Amino acid sequence: MTSQLSYVRTTTDGPWGTYLSQVDRVVPYLGELARWVETLKRPKRALIVDVPIELDNGEVAHFEGFRVQHNMSRGPGKGGVRYHPDVTLEEVMALAAWMSIKNAAVNLPYGGAKGGIRVDPAKLSHKELERITRRYTSEIGIIIGPHSDIPAPDVNTNPQIMAWMMDTYSMNTGTTATGVVTGKPIHLGGSLGRVKATGRGVFVTGREAARRLSLDLSGARVAVQGFGNVGGAAAELFNQAGARIIAAQDHTGSIFNESGFDMADLMAHVKASGGVGGFKGGEVMGNEEFWDVKCDILIPAALESQITAARAKRITARLVLEGANGPTVPQADDILAERGILVVPDVICNAGGVTVSYFEWVQDFSSFFWTEDEINLRLDKIMMGALKKIWDTADRHKITLRTATFAVACERILTARKERGLYP
Ligand code: NAD
Repeated sequence: MTSQLSYVRTTTDGPWGTYLSQVDRVVPYLGELARWVETLKRPKRALIVDVPIELDNGEVAHFEGFRVQHNMSRGPGKGGVRYHPDVTLEEVMALAAWMSIKNAAVNLPYGGAKGGIRVDPAKLSHKELERITRRYTSEIGIIIGPHSDIPAPDVNTNPQIMAWMMDTYSMNTGTTATGVVTGKPIHLGGSLGRVKATGRGVFVTGREAARRLSLDLSGARVAVQGFGNVGGAAAELFNQAGARIIAAQDHTGSIFNESGFDMADLMAHVKASGGVGGFKGGEVMGNEEFWDVKCDILIPAALESQITAARAKRITARLVLEGANGPTVPQADDILAERGILVVPDVICNAGGVTVSYFEWVQDFSSFFWTEDEINLRLDKIMMGALKKIWDTADRHKITLRTATFAVACERILTARKERGLYP
């Protein structure tokens, strides 16, 4: 038995290496289920596809696309699709694996999957974006479906892209398969509350963690990396709860305002210009300086491996809320723990999005739609219940919230694995 896979070059601080080391840490808490752990160290299925499209100038360009189904012991695959120039198979494998853990931690009846295209979507026209999405969907159409694997938005993908994916899959199968993707526009079977659900989950888990730390949100200083779907929504909710958003960073730059940004102005600026850079209501700050900002709460909500060991030594926050997937490398995790900085890990902190995706999927099948208040109430209840179980597990074994989340999730996945048995 070995977890060395020939088709990826695993580095200890790369996303797949980070995931493997997180699994290794949970083994002592799995009892006899540990004999099945190897199943978590490799994806069930990984599909690499060529995505050729005709550009507007008549040339043909080829892009690499991926869809990875990490584990489906507990249900169909579920996880987003990322468009980014740095997407690799290794990254998609890790993101799919974190989805398995997250879905099990929140007890959703799903396995874990993820997809991506190695492309900079900012360089494509609207029509090119549609063509790349449709061709990619067709190529991965052999493994996705409402009962087999259900994609959703992730970095640089959105409800419009989900609408094209749903339409392409439906055209290819002669159906109107609304349940094949989540995060769709409302008119196409999307759910109220989905767009802000991940940010809301970050807020709900963060508010509970702050309460347990006796950290008053009123006046608390918050720094946010990544001001997209997740970071922007989380920042708005913390601001509404009385916190000051004093620092923000995204791919367009870093800004700072000790008194807190005017959030309505900042959100309008990001919407109009595509990023926080150039915002007049704050001072420009160096990108590396962002990690030294004196704050109470830090929300990494951009990409993986942002909190390195070096940065972990400088962070001043009492609480780190992982809106992004995999933002903290394992060595940094240890440093934060040693320094008494509480980390609410991605696999619970940002589970609000997939939870409302689950609501969307259920609503699509029943063709009966809930109000936004119903969605938010159910979301808060599920997130709080899952967090309590994780916190109790962490207290019982004296382990970090991350290892506790993995313990809860891996126990559920491996129990299902054991009960299903090994085929043939
Ligand atoms: P998004 O595309 O809406 O926003 C991404 C943000 O990251 C943007 O503000 C972008 O400027 C910023 N960014 C990109 N490169 C950066 C860099 N090098 N330095 C600093 N900032 C950079 O994406 P999103 O949906 O908000 O996803 C953000 C993170 O949250 C990802 O890790 C994603 O996997 C995770 N996540 C998203 C969801 C969801 O429902 N959208 C759910 C769970 C987890």
